[in-house]
Amino acid sequence: MSFKDLQLNKPILRAIAEAGYDNPTLVQEKTIPFVLDKRDVIVSAQTGTGKTAAFALPILQSLFDYQDAPKNGKKIKALIVSPTRELAVQILENFKTYSTYTNLRTAVVFGGTSIEPQKDILNKGVDILIATPGRLLDLHKQDLLNLDYVETLVLDEADLMLDMGFIDDVKKIERLCTKEKQILLFSATIPYKVEQLANTILNNPERIEV
Ligand code: AMP
Repeated sequence: MSFKDLQLNKPILRAIAEAGYDNPTLVQEKTIPFVLDKRDVIVSAQTGTGKTAAFALPILQSLFDYQDAPKNGKKIKALIVSPTRELAVQILENFKTYSTYTNLRTAVVFGGTSIEPQKDILNKGVDILIATPGRLLDLHKQDLLNLDYVETLVLDEADLMLDMGFIDDVKKIERLCTKEKQILLFSATIPYKVEQLANTILNNPERIEV
């Protein structure tokens, strides 16, 4: 299978070709069609399998079509929640690479650092936000961001997120987004507590294992 078979548009194909990707990895092949179809998914895949592009590419593809609509303004359309700052930064770098030939705006917010620069970035308008749970909720509490328009919520490394004690934060974040959103849950393993979380917040998810 090729990236073209996955129905990705030219600006995205060009960016991934320049990144040196020849063909989709297994997790990308299995996941991208369901994400484009707006389905919820629960994906068990380890780091290194190409799982970031498995959610980043279809998110960019979905947002691409109305990226320049003037009414979009400052609405965050996709939110990626990551357990650690390091992972969040890596996810941002991936999005930046794949979105080179789009006008989509991406940003990352995480704790342990000054809130001011993050406030400025959010103020300018962001389409795709990557965040660690605590800082995201802080920013929301201070009314510095609005999650009402999030159409796709990604929970990355869900098992690690729950191991780190973020279960209540994750549930809170899920409730702050619109009810109609799509949820993509990625986890290296699917222990009982991840399964329970998925049962609580996902809607008829497609299960993908690699
Ligand atoms: P991840 O599992 O998302 O951490 O990705 C692992 C590494 O694989 C990253 O360095 C990606 O840039 C790279 N990668 C992702 N998808 C592909 C692909 N289709 N072809 C080649 N490399 C890829």
